[in-house]
Amino acid sequence: MTHILHRQIHASLPVARGGRGVELFDAAGKAYVDASGGAAVSCLGHGHPDVVDALKKQAETLAYAHTSFFTNEPAEQLADRLIAGAPEGISHAYFVSGGSEANEAALKMARQYFVEKGEPQRHRIIARRQSYHGNTLGTLATGGNEWRREPFRPLLIETHHIDPCYAYRYQEAGESEEAYGLRAAQALEDRINELGPDTVMAFVAEPVVGATAGAVPAVSGYFKRIREICDRYGVLLILDEVMCGMGRTGTMHACEQDGIAPDMMTIAKGLGGGYQPIGAVLLGQHIFDAFAEGSGLFQHGHTYICHPMACAAALAVQDVIERDGLLANVREMGGYLRERLEARFGNHAHVGDIRGRGLFLGLELVADRSGKEPFDPARRVHAAVKKEAMQRGLMVYPAGGTIDGTRGDHILLAPPFIIDRVVADTIVERLGEAMDVAT
Ligand code: PLP
Repeated sequence: MTHILHRQIHASLPVARGGRGVELFDAAGKAYVDASGGAAVSCLGHGHPDVVDALKKQAETLAYAHTSFFTNEPAEQLADRLIAGAPEGISHAYFVSGGSEANEAALKMARQYFVEKGEPQRHRIIARRQSYHGNTLGTLATGGNEWRREPFRPLLIETHHIDPCYAYRYQEAGESEEAYGLRAAQALEDRINELGPDTVMAFVAEPVVGATAGAVPAVSGYFKRIREICDRYGVLLILDEVMCGMGRTGTMHACEQDGIAPDMMTIAKGLGGGYQPIGAVLLGQHIFDAFAEGSGLFQHGHTYICHPMACAAALAVQDVIERDGLLANVREMGGYLRERLEARFGNHAHVGDIRGRGLFLGLELVADRSGKEPFDPARRVHAAVKKEAMQRGLMVYPAGGTIDGTRGDHILLAPPFIIDRVVADTIVERLGEAMDVAT
């Protein structure tokens, strides 16, 4: 009998007792290869000695100091480091405790930016249907996953959703990738014009869609056109890199591969690699200037912003990634894992699409491969794959999205950046067995 309100009340969960490298161990001693980094979190794997040392030192030095009284060294150093590697124009960082808090803060920053600039009529948010931006009320309203939003609908602020850039589902026969990217981006311009350009505050999107679609990158050209449209109408572009950022796709930020820079970017998960809860908004100089030249106050905050332990963990994680050249390993192992997935599932009767970037890869599961027909949602095939994989000592992330109003089934892989070929082969072998049983 547990006194924790677990998310899935009737699920019987193993107790995680330890972790080392790419594996987690339960209380019975069973090992699980963490092929999803939990939910794309554990980028360095588990029990990394350098991060553990940094945490011990920070706990002995300073665990907490409230930000209305002090700044602190780990937070200042982490901000310097993130800004040095950030996309063009990004000048400041705002540290919170996770991805939802980061997106919530970004939305409020966008709103206050326009208030400071004397454009208080701008309050509308446009986002995309197949998206997840968090579970607080503001971020839930912004995300496009109907199933998650449904019970809370009366509490949600006004948001507007356009189709995502999702070639497997929406690129038409005979349409080039370039033409599709431009058509998908045009939906943003059309919606801005419908709503009234001077009322729109921000467009929010994940460069590679994670939890609702299983690692779907946009086609080339899409985000360049999105950037142009945002600039044309003075709409802020907020990129949510909570899941796909911080090296996961093989570059530090996913948007580097799309050749654009946002006005604001949110990061979390891989920032602290799970060693501490941490997220951040990275914001452009123009946003900072509007606050600095205006009220001088960002009217938002939490008790744990700039937490020294969280920032120290993130610094240590980022140091190891740089020192050990792990982004190169993400690119190499990402290529290898994808090759192995294509060899094993390329002709699988129930795998419609294999996609992603770096070590952020997804499989879309379908009842019928030729017609792309989704499984009956009642079968919860993604959950069945997860269960079968766990039995075989493998963690994969089951993503449930919405395809034309029905839930789709996707499997997301986001293993630690330290994997080698042997681990990649093990992942594919165990996933293959799980899929054959569950589909
Ligand atoms: N944004 C994206 C793209 C995510 O994938 C998630 C979590 O899965 C979030 C935001 C919310 O982050 P958190 O769960 O840390 O609040």
